[in-house]
Formats: sequence, C-alpha cells, structure tokens
Amino acid sequence: MKLFAPKYYKDFSCIAEKCTHNCCIGWEIDIDPDSAKKYNALDSGYGKNIKNSMEMSEDPHFVLEENKRCPHLDENGLCRIICELGEEYLCRICREHPRFYNDFLKGKEVGLGMACEEAARIILSSDEYDVIEHIGNVCGECCNIGIDTHEYRKEIYSILKNDSISYDDRLHAIYERFDISPHIFEDAKWHEIIEELEYLDAAHKELFLNYSSLEKTPKEIEEISERALAYFIYRHCTCAFDYEEYLAMLGFCLFLERLFVSVYISESDITPEVIGRIISEEIEYSPENTQRIINELYFW
Ligand code: SF4
Repeated sequence: MKLFAPKYYKDFSCIAEKCTHNCCIGWEIDIDPDSAKKYNALDSGYGKNIKNSMEMSEDPHFVLEENKRCPHLDENGLCRIICELGEEYLCRICREHPRFYNDFLKGKEVGLGMACEEAARIILSSDEYDVIEHIGNVCGECCNIGIDTHEYRKEIYSILKNDSISYDDRLHAIYERFDISPHIFEDAKWHEIIEELEYLDAAHKELFLNYSSLEKTPKEIEEISERALAYFIYRHCTCAFDYEEYLAMLGFCLFLERLFVSVYISESDITPEVIGRIISEEIEYSPENTQRIINELYFW
C-alpha cells in the first residue's frame, strides 16, 4: 500500500535534549505487546532496568517517576534505552511519536502531530502544506470504506491559498461552501463545551475560555493560522465514513483554528508554536475531548 506525507514531513527529527516540553514527561507511555515481550526477555545490563520499570497490567506501561518523568529519561533529556541499547529497542509509541497515520481509499497518509514542539515549529512554518508526496510503501490493504475526502481537501486548500482575498474572507468562503462554521453556536455555547473538557493542565482551560468565533485574525498570524487549519484538516478530515461525518470533522478543525486565533489575541506573550502545541495536547491527543466536540457538531 502506498504511503503519503506532506512535504515538510521529512524535515522532522526529534530535538531530544534541546526540547523544552519533552514528550517523555507527563504522559503515560504504553508498551505494545511485541515490545513488552522483548523487554521481558532482557536479563542483563540496562535491559534489567527496562524490565523492572514496566507494569504488566492489562495495558503494559512504564511506571513514571514521581515528577511524571519516564524512568528512562536521563538528566540531560536523553533516552537511556536509545543510548544503552539502540533505537531498535524503543517501544512502538516512542518510535512513532509524534507521527499519526490515516487510511484512505488509495493508501495511507502519515503526518506529524502538533503536540510535539519541533513538529509544531515545522508545521507552522511550512507554506507548502498542500504538497503531499508519495514517500514509500507499507504493508496492509487499502481501506474500502468511507468517502474520498481528498477532493474536498484539495478544494479547501485552494481556497486557503487564494491570497487575492483576505484570510478571514477565505475562511468565510470555506464556511459557505460546506455550510459549516464555528458560528453555528454562540460563543457562550462553546465556552460551555470548553468547561466540560478534561485537561492535563487546569490553566489551559482558562486559556481556552478566551475563545471567540467573532475575532478578526490579526495580520501577523494570518499565514500561521492558515497552516494550522491546513494541518488540522490533513489530520482529522481524511477518514470520514460519509459526508455528515466529514462536515462534523471539518467543523471541529474550524473550531480549533478559531481557538488558536482567540488564544493568540488574548495571550500575546505565548508564541503561536506553544499555542498550537497546547491545543494539540489538550484536545487532539485526547480522544474523549475530540469526541466530545465532534458529537456536538455531528448532531447539530
Ligand atoms: S516532544 Fe518532539 S522534539 Fe520533544 S522529545 Fe518528544 S519527539 Fe522529541
């Protein structure tokens, strides 16, 4: 099966000890069955530490240290599993992060998730988000359910790229073409939804409560907001089962874009890259929060 990726995908590599928001802190790291089996068979050198750091519950995972650090993260921000045994000993989640995959009718797409600060930097600085390249082949069959969403994506990207009209006019053109927009709810309703989400950091709820669908996009972040929206659409709108689901996913992406702009306007000391990362880790990386918002749009 063919594998595709945005042109910027190949620019990514983990910045490891230079990362200020390391993904090895704060998240539970689940261990896939193949890696758990491999780790359980280790009985010498650093392998013993790996084996002893696992909790073999229904979902095997590394037991985090008190400060929520992965037990294999050293004081310099480097992964001891890589340093001691090599990259081939990483479990799947560590090997793949921050990549995500989506099946579509003619193959599979891979992208970078914005919860990673290096990925956020690349996504928000790449103008060629509409160039999707064939980067190789992967095992598996093409999925034969769902609709072909690529035509819609092409259409949306061509509206987004039309710089003969203002960015806000381009957004409105998308709202009109698909008859879906964040304006379907009053801001008060969005605030209610934001209140009900689950948060890794309670301060982010306060940040998100600055949401408004009505703000004009400041000139200096028009391009960045455009790239953020293109990323949300690449990530969430590919696998729709039918047109209704596509619209709900598109509504979700359009909401995230307005949230991005609202937080930027209200908190000018936070960089767009950090705002993107926070939105991604709090919403996109939480299936519950994602589903909570999509349900509202699906049944609208
Ligand atoms: S968040 Fe990204 S750049 Fe930072 S350690 Fe994780 S993968 Fe590397």
